[in-house]
Amino acid sequence: SLVLRGIRKSFAGTEVLRGIDLEVAPGEVVCLLGPSGSGKSTLLRCVNHLERVDAGFVLVDGILVGYEPRGGRLHESSEKDTARLRRRMGMVFQHFNLFTHLSALDNVMLGPVRVLGRDAADAERDARALLARVGLKDHAGKRPGRLSGGQQQRVAIARALAMDPSVLLFDEPTSALDPELVGEVLAVMRDLAGQGMTMVVVTHEIGFAQEVADTAVFMDGGVIVESGPARRVLSSPSSARTAEFLAHVL
Ligand code: ATP
Ligand code: MG
Repeated sequence: SLVLRGIRKSFAGTEVLRGIDLEVAPGEVVCLLGPSGSGKSTLLRCVNHLERVDAGFVLVDGILVGYEPRGGRLHESSEKDTARLRRRMGMVFQHFNLFTHLSALDNVMLGPVRVLGRDAADAERDARALLARVGLKDHAGKRPGRLSGGQQQRVAIARALAMDPSVLLFDEPTSALDPELVGEVLAVMRDLAGQGMTMVVVTHEIGFAQEVADTAVFMDGGVIVESGPARRVLSSPSSARTAEFLAHVL
């Protein structure tokens, strides 16, 4: 499970996250929605500690990163815990962020071999199985430049899965894709959700959120305005701000 408590983050004196509390149960899929600038990407970056939080903490698999209340004081977690926590999370970005000079297979194998120290033959076997799982069995030898955007994003998902994460974080994984390629990426994400993967997904794909997410969280101005069962929040939000946002994206 993933727990966020009291997450705060400022940039140059402007507070972008103003106390975020969120719990994601094992196997739960949470969709994070909100207007541009509301802090969604910053929150994901704080969750895997690409950004250091100013206050609060993130807890995954018993690993705490941030500021832990202990004996009435706050203790900052160690670098070692940060590295351990980051290893438990996979992140998929809008622009894929693949290594362009490496094949799909090498992109997927790199983390397990370099970071986890896995045997190359084992890592290759698993990477091929993961590429097959995202529908790219016959594309393992291709570099990203020879793949479509949808295929590249599926390689990125396989690469994240290769680290055997306990949580997958997605930041607008389909918003850079041509419309006809969105479906194949959402289909892979739907499969992962069905297989019990814990996921936090920033997306404007309301249909996907309604169908796949357990929970929808609406953020605005660095706070969670509303959260609850996805179908309920997305079809009959209780906050006027959520309703207004949904009216614009639908
Ligand atoms: P979008 O839907 O456009 O992706 P978002 O909800 O992901 O928006 P963030 O990218 O988290 O929003 O940005 C929240 C606010 O923090 C914005 O005002 C942004 O300009 C600011 N911000 C984000 N990263 C930085 C940074 N590294 N330095 C300074 N300001 C930043
Ligand atoms: Mg963003």
